[in-house]
Amino acid sequence: MRIFSPSNIAVDFGKTLKPNEFIAMLRREVLDSFLRSRAVSAGATHISGLVTSLDLPTSQNSPYTINYTTKTSSRNSLAVDVVIGADGANSRVAKSINAGDYTCAIAFQERIKLSDDKMAYYENLAEMYIGDDVSPDFYAWVFPKCDHVAVGTGTVKSKHDIKLYQRAIRERAMSKINGGKVIKIEAHPIPEHPRPVRVRGRVALVGDAAGYVTKCSGEGIYFAAKSGRMCGNGVVKASEGGMKMINECDLMREYLKEWDAKYVNTFRFLDLLQRVFYGSNASREALVELCGDEYVQRMTFDSYLYKKLARGKVCDDVKLFMGTIGSLIRCNDVGTRMKGLIL
Ligand SMILES: Cc1cc2nc3c(=O)[nH]c(=O)nc-3n(C[C@H](O)[C@H](O)[C@H](O)COP(=O)(O)OP(=O)(O)OC[C@H]3O[C@@H](n4cnc5c(N)ncnc54)[C@H](O)[C@@H]3O)c2cc1C
Repeated sequence: MRIFSPSNIAVDFGKTLKPNEFIAMLRREVLDSFLRSRAVSAGATHISGLVTSLDLPTSQNSPYTINYTTKTSSRNSLAVDVVIGADGANSRVAKSINAGDYTCAIAFQERIKLSDDKMAYYENLAEMYIGDDVSPDFYAWVFPKCDHVAVGTGTVKSKHDIKLYQRAIRERAMSKINGGKVIKIEAHPIPEHPRPVRVRGRVALVGDAAGYVTKCSGEGIYFAAKSGRMCGNGVVKASEGGMKMINECDLMREYLKEWDAKYVNTFRFLDLLQRVFYGSNASREALVELCGDEYVQRMTFDSYLYKKLARGKVCDDVKLFMGTIGSLIRCNDVGTRMKGLIL
């Protein structure tokens, strides 16, 4: 992983990774189809269709009705005991249970096919770019996707300027991606925080539908998969393997409480980091300077890889705190950031 500051200072960020550790890059089109096939081979019935609405039960233990269309038929329905809504940021399941809204960022990316020599540079490298030019409050990226790269950026504050930021990231990476052919363009909302309601009755929301994307890193794939598994396991446990009807308290206890206990602090910490370091070019320069520090790299990757805030030694943490203040002062930003934090 290489991170570029607004003034294009580059720092390699991954020096402390052990031989068995890596930052995974994946193509959703491949992963999703693998997961679908695995579910089917484990006994699930796969129905390819578009859910149009969810009818709520008329009495305590009566079923939910999922209405959906398929390629061949416009009116189909399915009666179910429990619904796990994993239908993304525009979740119809969330709307059906009045789960409330969240603020969204927008992420935009172009999949670009490079010539073989240019692709060789990205074979084992992901790049992050920060600066007002590429995003006022997030980062831009060039991520390898096996035989092509994804070049993109995101923002909450200034969504209508997303195409300007996209042009800027292409310019920043120009020498490495020029001559490439755009093969796909993707743009999608990214939730900024969890929905006000994530469980209602026998319906639970997971992944983007629930609002599980971390600030700062914009990571949502791991948390979507993890919340889906945690919720599924919770349903199996509470229903005693499908022998007993479950209720809202079961979903709260087996899924939501467990989720919050495990991840709320990670989400809060990354929110704080985004507010401290992504607010101005001066603080972004400080961030890149700090990323050069081995202790920062170790703590970051221990937390990122194992999804648990890593615990350091007190004396190292004090040194890191002083180093952070030092970097912010050197980069001329301590007054603004501290004021932002206190406010
Ligand atoms: C451009 C971009 C880049 C990103 N980069 C990263 C990254 O590098 N790392 C990372 O961790 N995260 C990244 N994210 C965030 C990540 O993609 C999401 O957090 C993650 O995909 C959430 O997974 P999900 O399964 O909850 O939702 P989704 O991936 O949105 O999947 C929802 C699924 O539900 C289906 N669906 C929706 N509505 C219906 C309906 N009515 N009926 C039937 N099916 C329906 C959709 O077709 C889709 O298959 C990125 C997001 C974007 C937009």
